[in-house]
Amino acid sequence: MKYTYKRGFYWLSVYIILALVPLIIAITGNIPEHRGFWMEFGVALGFIGFGVLCLQFVFSGRFRKIAPTYGMDNILQYHREMGIVAFIFILLHPAVIIVTDPGFISYFDPNVNAPRAVALVFVTLAIIVIIASSIWRLTFGLDYERWRLLHGFLSLAIIFIGVTHSIQVSHYLDPFWKKAGIGVLFLIYGYLILHTRITRPWLNKKKPYKIISVNPERGNCWTLTMKPEGHRRLDFFCGQFVWITIGPTPFSLQQHPFSIASSARDKTISLTTKEMGDFTSTWKDVKPGTRAFLEGPFGSFVPERGKNLFLIMGGIGITPAMGMLRTMRDNKDPRPAVLIYGNITWEDVTFREELEELTRQINLKQVHILEEPPEGWKGETGLVSKELLQKYLPDNPEEFMYFICGPEPLMDVSEIALKDLGIDWRLIYTERFEII
Ligand SMILES: Cc1cc2nc3c(=O)[nH]c(=O)nc-3n(C[C@H](O)[C@H](O)[C@H](O)COP(=O)(O)OP(=O)(O)OC[C@H]3O[C@@H](n4cnc5c(N)ncnc54)[C@H](O)[C@@H]3O)c2cc1C
Repeated sequence: MKYTYKRGFYWLSVYIILALVPLIIAITGNIPEHRGFWMEFGVALGFIGFGVLCLQFVFSGRFRKIAPTYGMDNILQYHREMGIVAFIFILLHPAVIIVTDPGFISYFDPNVNAPRAVALVFVTLAIIVIIASSIWRLTFGLDYERWRLLHGFLSLAIIFIGVTHSIQVSHYLDPFWKKAGIGVLFLIYGYLILHTRITRPWLNKKKPYKIISVNPERGNCWTLTMKPEGHRRLDFFCGQFVWITIGPTPFSLQQHPFSIASSARDKTISLTTKEMGDFTSTWKDVKPGTRAFLEGPFGSFVPERGKNLFLIMGGIGITPAMGMLRTMRDNKDPRPAVLIYGNITWEDVTFREELEELTRQINLKQVHILEEPPEGWKGETGLVSKELLQKYLPDNPEEFMYFICGPEPLMDVSEIALKDLGIDWRLIYTERFEII
């Protein structure tokens, strides 16, 4: 799945047009008398901020048309950055208007209109809570699930208040069709949330999986293998990921993303996790026969046909690479692959024995790099660095695709190093496991 400028411009244009829809509705047809640049500018900021905020639900909604094109981590990064842009616009909207005409401060006065004042103060506080809880989630002791719930609820409330506010003020939305337009827009975006949280899990209910084995792996990891029950296994490309819920129902707050570690040729699907927190630490106790639900596949961390593979993986970041290498083995794929695999100790190298076997089955060169090597270790030591990557970079680097997955520092160093070493950014793919 190639990154291209053309595709980038296409999606950017679609994004800008959709973000401007509320403003376009406001300024179409008869518009009221001009009240000076700054006043109209302040109003425009509100409509644009509202449009950008609504679009945030498209990015967090895991829509497969978008996710496979750009990758989950890039989309979430964009979601984060555009969230900040939306909030700046929304906060500037009253600020610019009030500075231009201080009389508008009355909008925040409960003696003038209590519901309106409460709603506007709520929006301001909600924005502060969303930003603070996203930056300092762990400091506040919020687990990921509760944070996600709070984040979604507050964002939806802000949008709802935004719609009500613009309809109530009505300055630019006077003919009824404009109010209806803004209302319909809200319903469409509201449905996107319902689709993600209700419709999709409901459809998924008909496609359960049965966990058939739970196996320990090196490095405090566990592999769940599951088979479809009464339906065809989902189709995926190696390197992609799914969202899994474990238990009798797909309606659960505990829905987590995992890369598919098994071969795309297998009839079953395997996911491997390292014990991290409340969800992943339950895997070792899962009983074979338990139900699971998979949503997906997602992700653009997928090798192109005809391109060789240069894999830079760290720790549990090996899972998508296992999917790729196992698929190459099953397809008898002769392409060269280089695996740079960083771990702390030799004992912790997940899939160590299988990788050894894979070097005999396919054209794989593996380079282990250990932070705490055992005595007598002759391989690479320390952390992945530009020098190390340069040492193993192939002579024909443009014929390779570069995949990076692992702890954040490894990913940052490797991405920058590859670019410094002259690798075209369009050949570099990253998959970040830590979302926030
Ligand atoms: C595309 C992708 C593929 C992944 N593949 C693997 C894999 O193959 N193996 C593996 O061990 N881990 C993988 N992860 C990470 C895995 O999803 C998290 O480690 C897991 O969700 C942690 O849940 P927890 O409750 O046990 O830990 P917690 O301590 O609650 O969370 C640890 C971190 O995991 C992330 N996280 C937690 N819950 C969620 C959620 N519901 N949705 C999204 N992120 C969440 C957050 O960044 C959080 O800070 C992947 C993540 C992504 C985004």
